[in-house]
Amino acid sequence: MLLPLTRRSVIAASVGLPLLRFAGAWAAPASAYRVGAFTVTPLRDGLFPLQPSMIPGADSEAGRALLTQAGLPPGGPSPEPVNAFLIRRGARHWLLDAGCGTVFGPGFDRVAAALAAEGVGPDQVDTVWLTHLHADHVGGLLTSQGRARFVEAELVVQEREAAFWSDEAARARAPAAMAVFFDTAQAVLAAYAGRVRRVSGRAELAPGVSFLPLPGHTPGHAGVLIEDGAERLLFWGDILHSRVLQMPHPDWTVIWDADPAEAIATRRHILDRAAMERLDVAGMHLATRGRIAREGSGYLWEVRDPADSNGGSR
Ligand SMILES: [Zn+2]
Repeated sequence: MLLPLTRRSVIAASVGLPLLRFAGAWAAPASAYRVGAFTVTPLRDGLFPLQPSMIPGADSEAGRALLTQAGLPPGGPSPEPVNAFLIRRGARHWLLDAGCGTVFGPGFDRVAAALAAEGVGPDQVDTVWLTHLHADHVGGLLTSQGRARFVEAELVVQEREAAFWSDEAARARAPAAMAVFFDTAQAVLAAYAGRVRRVSGRAELAPGVSFLPLPGHTPGHAGVLIEDGAERLLFWGDILHSRVLQMPHPDWTVIWDADPAEAIATRRHILDRAAMERLDVAGMHLATRGRIAREGSGYLWEVRDPADSNGGSR
């Protein structure tokens, strides 16, 4: 007899029991939190089964020990979240990244439903800020037919980023496995043609919100910093793909880092800054908001419970 394939059974069959356990916890919607007058709602797109081979430094005794300590199989995978964020202030709402859409098959594409659960329809999103143009951040901007999902939205992206993914010479130099990234980025830029605002450096995105260039993962990779009064939050995009593996070993790069040396330097710089300034940090591949502390040659993650910010979850 054929059992119906649920999302959970598909995930369990493909990556094993630890991920199933994690996925159960992940099914709950994330709590919103305040940053001054801004309200931030994490939008969970899905879980990605990260293999140690995707972070070559982790394919080692040290990597296996870290995975074991975290309660994961020593050979992986490590289930890593893919997030986007809804950011609101007064009547305005902005989307920060958009998840995978259908680019990586079933198990993702939950950003639109998470937005709907917040009472935000696709035509109500007027601006999308993009940390970079990798498919797990922009695939959700497209419908399964490849059309613009957010019909009223303007995209804001770093000029260097848009230029890189539009560059046919860069595409020709890239490994074949990167084709899906070029295809998706180019499809997004085409679907939103005339509605893509290219900016450079620390451009202001809204009062109190600005880009913070963090190059290396991709040429125009940038974080987004929100500041209101004494409160600050840095969305650092893809500075980490595995908190468990890369926080103690910031020199372990992922295979998708366009410039590994620059990615390492940027990662170390921003981890240092975040630790020194006690910055609140959120990421597209982090399950929670947190803070950073130095430990030896690496760093520690301190979870900031969303429910304890400003006395409430909303
Ligand atoms: Zn990513």
